[in-house]
Amino acid sequence: MAITDKIYVKNHQQLVSQLETSFPKGAFKGATLDILFQGEGLAKLDDASQDRVLDFAEDFLDCDCQANPHCGCPERKFVAYLLELREQGLGPDAVVDVMSDDYLLYAYPGDVLSFLDDSVRTLEAVETLAEVDGRDDVAEEVQQRRNRLM
Ligand SMILES: [Zn+2]
Repeated sequence: MAITDKIYVKNHQQLVSQLETSFPKGAFKGATLDILFQGEGLAKLDDASQDRVLDFAEDFLDCDCQANPHCGCPERKFVAYLLELREQGLGPDAVVDVMSDDYLLYAYPGDVLSFLDDSVRTLEAVETLAEVDGRDDVAEEVQQRRNRLM
């Protein structure tokens, strides 16, 4: 399962009752993207929630794909956001705190940790492949990226 399948909407019950419409707890579930993040019920949310829901929509659902928001861009952008937080030196707990503050989302720190470990391993594999291919420039770039995640 991708990390984006393990990102949840905080205060889910409260938001459901404000919107008067049910949607799944998973932030990247199709119905959540439609109902919470692109729905017409936004005005029914309290101000603090509304701001964060809008920020999420602006930061992750802003592509021009025809299938938006079901095109995969939101998930890709969110993964980049998580890696960026890690590169700033944040640990799994702090990453969860920041996503709650920024977007009213949460995840289990253990899931974030596995995701970061997997990312480092993926970069290691890419680095090895690049070395085998004699692409030292790529290998070096990947290694730098990997070091920033450690
Ligand atoms: Zn897209």
